[in-house]
Amino acid sequence: MIKKMSLIIGIIIFILILCATQILNAGTILESKNSNKNEIIEIGETIYKGKFPIPIENFIAVTSKFGIREGNEIVSSFHRGVDLCGSSGSKVLAVKEGKVTYSGWQNGYGNCVEIKHTDEQGNTFYTFYAHMRDNSLQVIKDQQIVVGQILGIQGSTGNSTGEHLHFEIRKKSGTNEDTIDPAPYLFTEKEMETE
Ligand SMILES: [Zn+2]
Repeated sequence: MIKKMSLIIGIIIFILILCATQILNAGTILESKNSNKNEIIEIGETIYKGKFPIPIENFIAVTSKFGIREGNEIVSSFHRGVDLCGSSGSKVLAVKEGKVTYSGWQNGYGNCVEIKHTDEQGNTFYTFYAHMRDNSLQVIKDQQIVVGQILGIQGSTGNSTGEHLHFEIRKKSGTNEDTIDPAPYLFTEKEMETE
């Protein structure tokens, strides 16, 4: 009888230990998942240390900032980039050396170019330039380009109401789902305040 009891107690203790290890394991998994998430966020925020040159020649003003568009409550839209306006016919310039991943027409964006870059930490990110003038694109897919290289001429192609450059910084190629605000990479804090 005592033997049977101690066997049952033994089994119960065994089950308890098993449960405890399971919970501990689950905790570790959860923790590592969280730290991965943090890492991804960090990469996004430190995507590039330093500033980019303004990607438009004869820059005049920012005509639309990154984020939720103001004064439009019926159709809430999120602006995935920043709109930069240069004088008419201004050249659109690459902000950093890299490789062209797209050059051509895209619905809404008109004539556009996407470039793949690698930062000092080896992280990959993409810059994207849209609404350029018809027949003005100067680069082709897979072309290696240098900083300041002419990509095309500022235009109003695609879904655009006036001549400007729509500029995005993307974490993934071919999609605007994961873009970050380009302003801190283009302007100083003081410049952003006075905008
Ligand atoms: Zn835009």
